[in-house]
Amino acid sequence: MQTIYLDNNATTPLLPAVAEAMRPFGEGIYGNPASAHGVGRKARQALEGARERIAGLLDAVPDEVTFTSGATEANNLAIFSLAGEPPAHILVSPIEHPSVAEPVRQLAERGLVVDEVHVDSSGLVPPEILGVSVRDETCLIAIQLGNHETGVVQDIWKLVAAKPHAAKFHCDATQAVGKMPVRFHELGVTTLSFSAHKLHGPKGIGALLLRRGTRLKPLIWGGHQQQGRRPGTEPVALVVGLATALELAYRDMETRQRHVLGLRRAFLHRLRKDCQPVILNGPEEGAAGFGLPHTLNISFPGCQADALLMNLDLAGIACSTGSACSSGSLLPSPVLKAMGVSAERLQSAMRFSLSWLLSESEIDDASGRIAAVCKRLRQHPQV
Ligand code: PMP
Repeated sequence: MQTIYLDNNATTPLLPAVAEAMRPFGEGIYGNPASAHGVGRKARQALEGARERIAGLLDAVPDEVTFTSGATEANNLAIFSLAGEPPAHILVSPIEHPSVAEPVRQLAERGLVVDEVHVDSSGLVPPEILGVSVRDETCLIAIQLGNHETGVVQDIWKLVAAKPHAAKFHCDATQAVGKMPVRFHELGVTTLSFSAHKLHGPKGIGALLLRRGTRLKPLIWGGHQQQGRRPGTEPVALVVGLATALELAYRDMETRQRHVLGLRRAFLHRLRKDCQPVILNGPEEGAAGFGLPHTLNISFPGCQADALLMNLDLAGIACSTGSACSSGSLLPSPVLKAMGVSAERLQSAMRFSLSWLLSESEIDDASGRIAAVCKRLRQHPQV
């Protein structure tokens, strides 16, 4: 039985074309981009060329791009850097990824004042809420673009417009970059993070875009690379991989989107037909604030998410629960909790994240396997 991979929000497979573009930088072009000689210069040209290509695609300028080891580091860099000193105030949405939520919690422990902004039942932050939540001391607002569990997409432009001038705005766009057009300057945010492995690039590379003129406190020290913002020898092959993956994503965005949207429709239709009751957690296609086309979060009342996950794995379906697993115990998803979903929905929520690499027949096969597992678990909940 062939495994059907429906966990593309966790990570995506590296495209052969990306691996091919990276290959010369492990072998022939091996120089350190900081070296003054010709071997180093070749590596530096590739590095800076990739930085320019990335900046061009994302509506940024090259010196606004700082490469990091991924989005976790980029989020930490932005948050620790932009937050002021106590009693400064931070506003954060309750549906952020742990790589945003945890650094903010650390800052709260150091005495900064943290408030969560409200999200509605589809997971959207209403822009007018910012007007009432900000204070004179608000130094930082952190709200993501696309949600990793439900796919809901925030209206960042409106949220930025509703904030006071002095407050900085960090946007974690890790699930959105490469899936929808993201334009850094147009959004108006101070910083924006993303990661290559979510868009068929290599693991271990991401970036933080930082608006020109904003001071950045580094997290680590020890060199002058990347204007001292993120010292350390730049991983040229990984950076080239990120640039190539992003170029392919932008080149094929419309085709990929159309295909994935068709798959999402077929998948949802089939599950609604064969698996009732099912409840979609997040926006329906076509609803205001409709989200990332590849993400579906669905509750299967009558099934337990952990049993579903295990049995779907046995049935060759790779997906994930809508809950974070910690120390062997299932904790209810903070994202779904913030949306006010009922306990039964929380306990039976699964995340399916699709990719343009999937075919219609794979989606059909996957829905059939899911329906069979669901039926069995509802009849024999202890299995
Ligand atoms: N933010 C979001 C929204 C994510 O989904 C992820 C990855 N799960 C991250 C940040 C962290 O990215 P990375 O794996 O590159 O550290």
